[in-house]
Amino acid sequence: MDTLVLTKGVPDFREGQVSFDEDGHLERGKTPTVMNPNDKFALQAALQTKVRHGGTVGLMSMGPPGYKGVLQEGMESVYADDLYLLSDREMAAADTWATAITLATAIEKKGVPDLIFAGFKTADGETGHTGPQACWALDLPIITHVIALDIDPDAGTVRAKRLVEGDVEEVETVEAEMPAFIVSDPEFAPSYRTAGERLTLKDLRSETKARAEDYEDHLTVWNHEDLNLDPDYIGLDGSPTIVAGVDPIPKAPAERDATMITPDDSEGMEEVLEVMAPFTEGDAAAGAD
Ligand SMILES: Cc1cc2nc3c(=O)[nH]c(=O)nc-3n(C[C@H](O)[C@H](O)[C@H](O)COP(=O)(O)OP(=O)(O)OC[C@H]3O[C@@H](n4cnc5c(N)ncnc54)[C@H](O)[C@@H]3O)c2cc1C
Repeated sequence: MDTLVLTKGVPDFREGQVSFDEDGHLERGKTPTVMNPNDKFALQAALQTKVRHGGTVGLMSMGPPGYKGVLQEGMESVYADDLYLLSDREMAAADTWATAITLATAIEKKGVPDLIFAGFKTADGETGHTGPQACWALDLPIITHVIALDIDPDAGTVRAKRLVEGDVEEVETVEAEMPAFIVSDPEFAPSYRTAGERLTLKDLRSETKARAEDYEDHLTVWNHEDLNLDPDYIGLDGSPTIVAGVDPIPKAPAERDATMITPDDSEGMEEVLEVMAPFTEGDAAAGAD
């Protein structure tokens, strides 16, 4: 059972150091990059599939050379057997359409696996387009908002529970023939039902951590020539979407007042202890006034 997970690097918003150029394009080189948090659920789904049915888990990303670190993070923090980076200048500043075409071409070159996983959306572009567009380009069935799944290798089918958001949150169960495309929902929860599965999981996790230390031994890098892609159809040139401008979202005003106290301010520290004392005694009511 071969699976492939698509992931993208996004700015590490925790550190809040995002940089944009004069045209409003994100300057990736100047911003710490991490693996898109939503893609961890897609990787968890692929790992669960391997634990239950064997096979391989590939992890693929299109982006600048710095995305090698994103692939290593995925291998180390969840699981991956093989890594694929699609990278060169011609692919830069792509919109979701050009990204999807590049990914679909690379997936065909690698060989279409039984299941391809993508995250719900990225933390920066947030369109949620790329997975469905790559799926369209590969002409595969797709199941989105997946919160649980299993495979029937004999029947060659995947069965999934998906979240249907609306006035009433509904969960529907759908089935598709493989190869198929799965978009994981952030509420995806892997399940390991037997002791055997949990042991296999434990072994695979320690294997992948060791493998991540020499991740470049498991990395394949392809440029547009390797993929036989015409530069006019990828990157900025191949992107029908032009980002007119990007305005950073202003921070919401802080609701609570904060008092800064330094450790050498003994009086201030005394005050803090006085305020906290009632809570340590479990008398929450005492602290209300
Ligand atoms: C602030 C901002 C706004 C943007 N707005 C638009 C826009 O409106 N329209 C547009 O077409 N482009 C837009 N872009 C460009 C867009 O970010 C890129 O095309 C990007 O590669 C894919 O789109 P996304 O970030 O929305 O990802 P999404 O479509 O939200 O990603 C969904 C999933 O697809 C997979 N995936 C996405 N990108 C990659 C990748 N590079 N490699 C491997 N897997 C991937 C991941 O599994 C991810 O979880 C914007 C970029 C920024 C920074």
